[in-house]
Amino acid sequence: MSSHDVIVIGLGGMGGAAVHRLAAEGLRVLGLDRFPAVHDQGSSHGGSRIIRQAYFEGADYVPLLLRAYELWDELEAESGLEIRHRTGGLMVGPADSLAVAGSLRSAEAHGLDHELLDAAEIRRRFPTMTPADSDVALYEAAAGFVSPEQSVTANLTMARRHGAELRHGVRVDSWTADSAGVTVHADDGVHRAERLVICPGAWAPDLLARLGLPLVVERMVQFWFRPTAGPASFAEQRHPIFIWEDAGRRQAYAFPMHAESDGTVKAAFFRSGDNACTPDTIDRRVAEGEEEELRRFLSTRVPTLPGPLARAKTCMYTTTPDEHFVIGPHPRHDRVTLACGFSGHGFKFVPVVGEIVADLVARGTTRHPIAMFDPLRFGPQG
Ligand SMILES: Cc1cc2nc3c(=O)[nH]c(=O)nc-3n(C[C@H](O)[C@H](O)[C@H](O)COP(=O)(O)OP(=O)(O)OC[C@H]3O[C@@H](n4cnc5c(N)ncnc54)[C@H](O)[C@@H]3O)c2cc1C
Repeated sequence: MSSHDVIVIGLGGMGGAAVHRLAAEGLRVLGLDRFPAVHDQGSSHGGSRIIRQAYFEGADYVPLLLRAYELWDELEAESGLEIRHRTGGLMVGPADSLAVAGSLRSAEAHGLDHELLDAAEIRRRFPTMTPADSDVALYEAAAGFVSPEQSVTANLTMARRHGAELRHGVRVDSWTADSAGVTVHADDGVHRAERLVICPGAWAPDLLARLGLPLVVERMVQFWFRPTAGPASFAEQRHPIFIWEDAGRRQAYAFPMHAESDGTVKAAFFRSGDNACTPDTIDRRVAEGEEEELRRFLSTRVPTLPGPLARAKTCMYTTTPDEHFVIGPHPRHDRVTLACGFSGHGFKFVPVVGEIVADLVARGTTRHPIAMFDPLRFGPQG
């Protein structure tokens, strides 16, 4: 007889939500993470994560986002922490860019509130921005950002309130599953349970090596600039988050200033090639001059944003070939549930991923549409 119903490996963004929802189901939960709570060694740190509903990555995500928004509000209310910032969001670029056209497709397919702005209207309403005459934007009032640190803290706190046992500083070396249950070998001993949930972020290639998922871990850098315009012009009360796409389909994004950003504006490229790494080999230093490319991109579009660099920090994406997530039962072990491969856009889904995982563990099924996250879609494995 195991003392726990379910073990969760990884207590970052996704695992935090999973232990919360599983414990709220009344299950006896053991959560394990190799690092202290709310650390900066994985994918869930840096003060801000964009949330939006008019999703250019695909209209099929919209129902999940609508549910995630409800659950973000619930998490804020029950934890008493401020997690969500309502700033509005601008997707800017040529009319046929993915950012604009893709967001518009999702907004129209699901009847989401949005406005289309031409370049003159963008300049008038958002004076920090200097779009080319050929740029347009989709404005979504429901867009904004969440704090990843507050989110993880809130979920871990709620999980404990519901009776979960969470152990930090415990590294899992391996796991096995058979008809009797699951066994987890960790550096604090051997743990048994009925079921296992694996949400290890960038460590998925280690813990799921035999599954051979085609995951690429990518080194990304977040930069914090001190704008040269007065702080009021980038304040979250008046400045939206934005994602700006150029004619070559390159996207950069930024957040307004907020109480925790210490007079800085965070900006980054959304994707950049040639940056494969592993969590063990990633170069966490940011070299002088690494921000030059981003500075060039921003200087013609939001000229007062890229002032002096205050700081920079690496983070990791765990990317699948189609950039859709991996969520579902382990193809060979029905006692094991996977949630990984969030491909650099998972955070806004954190609470609904927790709900899906709890559905799968407690009931073996979920009402949410997760077919596009099928771990088997990449073909035969290992
Ligand atoms: C720079 C950057 C910007 C981003 N911006 C956005 C955004 O604006 N909007 C958005 O929606 N998403 C964004 N994302 C993506 C989003 O943050 C990630 O999809 C999400 O944080 C992934 O959460 P996770 O739980 O999978 O990983 P993590 O939060 O890294 O959690 C994994 C956990 O597993 C633990 N672990 C791993 N292996 C073991 C082991 N063997 N034993 C014990 N513990 C283990 C790790 O210690 C870690 O705590 C961004 C990501 C980055 C890097």
